[in-house]
Amino acid sequence: EPRLEGNFATLMKWADSHRRMGVRTNAETPADCAMAREFGAEGIGLCRTEHMFFDANRISAVREMILAESEEGRRKALAKLLPEQRKDFVDILECMAGLPCTIRLLDPPLHEFLPTGDAEFAELADITGFGVDHLKRRAEELHEFNPMLGHRGCRLGITYPEIYEMQARAIFEAACDVAEKSGEAPVPEVMIPLVGTKRELEILRKLVNDTAADVFREKGRELDYLVGTMIELPRAALMAGEIAEEARFFSFGTNDLTQTTLGVSRDDAGRFLSTYVEKGIYARDPFVSLDVEGVGQLVSLAAERGRATRPDIKLGICGEHGGDPASIAFCEETGLDYVSASPYRVPIARLAAAQAALA
Ligand code: PEP
Ligand code: MG
Repeated sequence: EPRLEGNFATLMKWADSHRRMGVRTNAETPADCAMAREFGAEGIGLCRTEHMFFDANRISAVREMILAESEEGRRKALAKLLPEQRKDFVDILECMAGLPCTIRLLDPPLHEFLPTGDAEFAELADITGFGVDHLKRRAEELHEFNPMLGHRGCRLGITYPEIYEMQARAIFEAACDVAEKSGEAPVPEVMIPLVGTKRELEILRKLVNDTAADVFREKGRELDYLVGTMIELPRAALMAGEIAEEARFFSFGTNDLTQTTLGVSRDDAGRFLSTYVEKGIYARDPFVSLDVEGVGQLVSLAAERGRATRPDIKLGICGEHGGDPASIAFCEETGLDYVSASPYRVPIARLAAAQAALA
């Protein structure tokens, strides 16, 4: 349990009076949000929604939705998921009490949602009325050899727009409900993952805007909100000037940006990374401490190009590097507006941001 009192609290207060960058947290449960706030988080920089879909009483509807062969089938399953998803966002927005909250639309490697054992297929057959053989064939069709470079992130929103539509509806309905109850209107920041082209963001921003307009009409209330994107592919960094025409903010997803720039799998790197560090090929583990010379160039370039198009574009980082002091120093030099770290790393991020500003 965080106990930020006494000398520690004084030290953190001194740090806060010197830092320029904001410090947010990566959190998707009310418990994590509450803890991060106690640690001094000033908002959510990344709420990953895919974890919510693994909830025990939702996973069957999620599998039903993924395996459905038609939009109608997906919409039927998504209707079951909407109330819970709305409650997820009500809880988070309430907990953050008006602080900025960046909610990222679904970004799973799809295979994590597919049923595996016979029992899971049998349960799904009961729910959907489809035979086990049919469902297995469908799962086979969705199989990917390299899911991390496959049908994930905004590609899912492009091919199955009804998924993002349900999530956007849940966000705006939740924001209206919280505004109604608390009298204070939250300003959700809707984040589209794994964007590589302006057109992807254009299509999905329109979907989010249209959904917001529908919800506001139904609720008789208008709220402010932002739509932005992650920069986590080299192409997105290079094309940031064009992408910024569609984005009010960029959040650097340096986990994927490191993976895709170095061509090193973030899940399998452990097999050889320590040797690479021992032999001085990498100065440090690039998934822990930002590869400033390589990946860092893409971050600086994207920040520069994004600002050239939209001078007030909000810039943050939500990869693991957002809680690493050396990477935070780089973020300060690049002029990012905030870093976002997991709840337990929020205090170190506050200190590192102050140290970087003083340096
Ligand atoms: C990232 O890629 O840096 C990121 C924050 O997204 P995720 O880790 O969820 O892929
Ligand atoms: Mg990512």
